[in-house]
Amino acid sequence: MDLEELYQDVILDHSRRPRNFGEMPDADFHIHGDNPMCGDEVTLHVKFSAADLVEKVGFTGNGCSICMSSASMLTQKIKRRPRAEAAELSRAFQDLLTAPSEPEPDKRLGDLTLLRGVRKFPQRVKCATLAWHALDQALAKPTAKETNFSEETDPPAP
Ligand code: ZN
Repeated sequence: MDLEELYQDVILDHSRRPRNFGEMPDADFHIHGDNPMCGDEVTLHVKFSAADLVEKVGFTGNGCSICMSSASMLTQKIKRRPRAEAAELSRAFQDLLTAPSEPEPDKRLGDLTLLRGVRKFPQRVKCATLAWHALDQALAKPTAKETNFSEETDPPAP
């Protein structure tokens, strides 16, 4: 497999026409992460409902195709899911890319499993996980409404 094969139609489509892209002034969380090794920058906006569902989720920023498509698919995947299920999906997606031996993909991940090809390109893994690390911050830190982190240092401890 070479890098070209990573850029399948679904991934390219999400990077060219990112879903749920835009500012969200009424969001509960604005989590900004950057990945200086590639130049990716993403701010994830998340709003929870009173029942602790992900009511609204969107993102802004600039990044490579892998970063943008992962963030775009993230927003579609976790919208209207309970907080705990969003956390499970984040764990499953990150395991798929980073666990020492590749796990069977969680079927709930759907098209996101297309990104598992980055396993073979370690320098691109952080492109794919950037938005998910931002999500982890929003899910785990109810008081940190505005957070900044960088992949340059150690992965943020949620
Ligand atoms: Zn990137």
